[in-house]
Amino acid sequence: AKGVGKNNYHYYTKSMRNAALKRMTLITDLRHAIEHNELFLVYQPIVNMNNGNVNKAEALIRWQHPTRGLICPDDFIPIAEETGLIIDISNWVFERVCRDAKYWRKTLCPDLQLSINTSPVHYTDPDRCITQWLQHMLVSRTPPQAITLEITENLLMDANTSVSNKLFQFRQAGVDIALDDFGTGYSSISYLKKYPTDFLKIDKSFVHSMSEVSNDKILCEAIIVMAKKLGIEVIAEGIETEEQHNILQKMGCKYGQGYLFFKPLTYEEFNAMLEKSKSA
Ligand code: C2E
Ligand code: CA
Ligand code: CA
Ligand code: CA
Repeated sequence: AKGVGKNNYHYYTKSMRNAALKRMTLITDLRHAIEHNELFLVYQPIVNMNNGNVNKAEALIRWQHPTRGLICPDDFIPIAEETGLIIDISNWVFERVCRDAKYWRKTLCPDLQLSINTSPVHYTDPDRCITQWLQHMLVSRTPPQAITLEITENLLMDANTSVSNKLFQFRQAGVDIALDDFGTGYSSISYLKKYPTDFLKIDKSFVHSMSEVSNDKILCEAIIVMAKKLGIEVIAEGIETEEQHNILQKMGCKYGQGYLFFKPLTYEEFNAMLEKSKSA
């Protein structure tokens, strides 16, 4: 037994060292990725379920790694947040989304609104990001109506007045705020009281368990009714089946996002989708 313990110990340190090494490599590669244009955005259309129109989409980041292939955000955003690299990444995302939104509004979809995922650091970091972004919108002549900022509850969890001040600044400038992953945290509802919100995105975990007889269906409907009374638009995330679509539509949910309608699209695919719906 003693021998096994010893081996386990060796195995443990070795795998720890490997993990640390892998992490270090990822950080170095990520720095490189920013400088060498390995990051790109895909856009997932958000469908108005009343008429099938699309004038909204969520920007989602991807990393085309030279040797490891395509890396999804869940595998590098957390590390980017820990190391502070997220600031550069998000500045890049913000500028790219402004540019794309401006272009598509001019050419194919005058009322297009693109949403950006934001991290807590953007609001807790000494003013930098927010001021910079507002400045960039102004300088690049991007209409604020073209941009929505998605925030998550974990941002608001330890939120102070400075966070709500920044959200207020954006909203005052005309940028919409969407509360992402709604319902997954512990006190989503109390945040609605404290923070002004234009959109509420029902988390896909609710949507996915809706077809079963479950409390999630009841909660989902309650969220939709409540949002309506508060004047907040609802977007249901992760719609994959006709059944989920039908249930949500009956509940009065206006917007839907999910593989049933569209997967996240590349720039070219999204452009083609806009062209198609313009000529339709
Ligand atoms: P999220 O904001 O909740 O984004 C929605 C995720 O659900 C996306 O995963 C999307 O591809 C996926 N999805 C869309 N429709 C369906 C569906 O019908 N079924 C299922 N199962 N999934 C669906 P993705 O692109 O891998 O992004 C993961 C998370 O990474 C995002 O979750 C967001 O929190 C974060 N993220 C993505 N892009 C950015 C970014 O530019 N900046 C920051 N800070 N975070 C980002
Ligand atoms: Ca999101
Ligand atoms: Ca607004
Ligand atoms: Ca979400």
